[in-house]
Amino acid sequence: MIKIEVKTGKPYTVKIGNGIINNAGEEAKALGLDGRILIISDDNVAALYIEKVKLSFESAGFEVLSFVIPHGEESKSAENLIAILNFAAENALSRTDTFVALGGGVVGDLCGFAAAVYMRGTNFIQLPTTLLAAVDSSVGGKTAIDLDAGKNLAGAFYQPKLVLCDTKTLDTLPDEEFSNGMAEVIKYGMFCNKELLDILTEGNADIEEIIARCVEIKARVVEADEFDKGERMFLNFGHTVAHAVEALSGYKTPHGSAVAIGMAVITKACTAKGVCPSEVLDVLLPLLEKYNLPHVCPYDIEEVYNVTLKDKKNAHGTITLVLPTAKGKSKLEKCDYNKLKEIITLGLK
Ligand code: ADP
Ligand code: ZN
Repeated sequence: MIKIEVKTGKPYTVKIGNGIINNAGEEAKALGLDGRILIISDDNVAALYIEKVKLSFESAGFEVLSFVIPHGEESKSAENLIAILNFAAENALSRTDTFVALGGGVVGDLCGFAAAVYMRGTNFIQLPTTLLAAVDSSVGGKTAIDLDAGKNLAGAFYQPKLVLCDTKTLDTLPDEEFSNGMAEVIKYGMFCNKELLDILTEGNADIEEIIARCVEIKARVVEADEFDKGERMFLNFGHTVAHAVEALSGYKTPHGSAVAIGMAVITKACTAKGVCPSEVLDVLLPLLEKYNLPHVCPYDIEEVYNVTLKDKKNAHGTITLVLPTAKGKSKLEKCDYNKLKEIITLGLK
């Protein structure tokens, strides 16, 4: 098992290992938690893992409740948030009780937000079961639901007390979901870690080590910028164009595929401008192919540019892009709309 400390305002530990959800109850007890446990999961994940997790908490002496939502992004809704809060209140859960997210990013974001607002904050534990949640959404404390006007528009910064990433649960993850997570893994390598790119290219590291490297990077970024005011922008590598691709597809393109396309577009543009040597593209494109990720944008320059301008984060006349500058290196650059257009044009050629 690998342990990584995340030294945010309230520090916590991420543990990564095979079979560790079976020990969730003892881990919670060791943190001094007692009270009751509310497990939130989706129907797919619950069918596979909820009994194991329940048993683990019950064996450690906890009383366990559970609330299962349908799988899929539509579940990250205000309706489900209110349903969870009402369920907690009807069962008289208190602030010293603990919400446990068992699932991917959808469950983690929704459960985390419910934990943040129930009685102004209950204990919260993340048990990520997708690669994407393991390397990205379960660490860093961003929680949210979607609103009619867009994704993640209501949420809170709320750090978990503990993250247990059981790599055994990834055995049942559909291939497409695995690829989705690999896009974020490649992202970490691209913006700051040459070694990770080498490992992925050579293909001889196990998944535990790959996740640990990503969590380590994310932990350091989040520690430097818990509330998303600067450093955290590096995590957006490839995401500006990705958000446009997702929107243009009516959210049919999976996030990881969109990020893969976004990384390819920005890297092609930077290569064409001479900001980045072409060897970086020679590393990125084969890696995307290796993990069954796309790299050709199916939309044209005008479409991508117009949607990017509408993005909520780009409202002030400039947009900060993460530009690759070398293998495993990048820089932040504020771009006005002309520069953004130039980059999208070069990237989509
Ligand atoms: P993400 O983690 O990518 O944000 P979701 O939370 O929507 O996405 O999870 C993606 C899909 O994978 C969902 O349908 C979910 O039920 C399913 N899923 C999550 N974890 C597992 C797992 N370990 N095994 C099988 N299916 C899983
Ligand atoms: Zn992402």
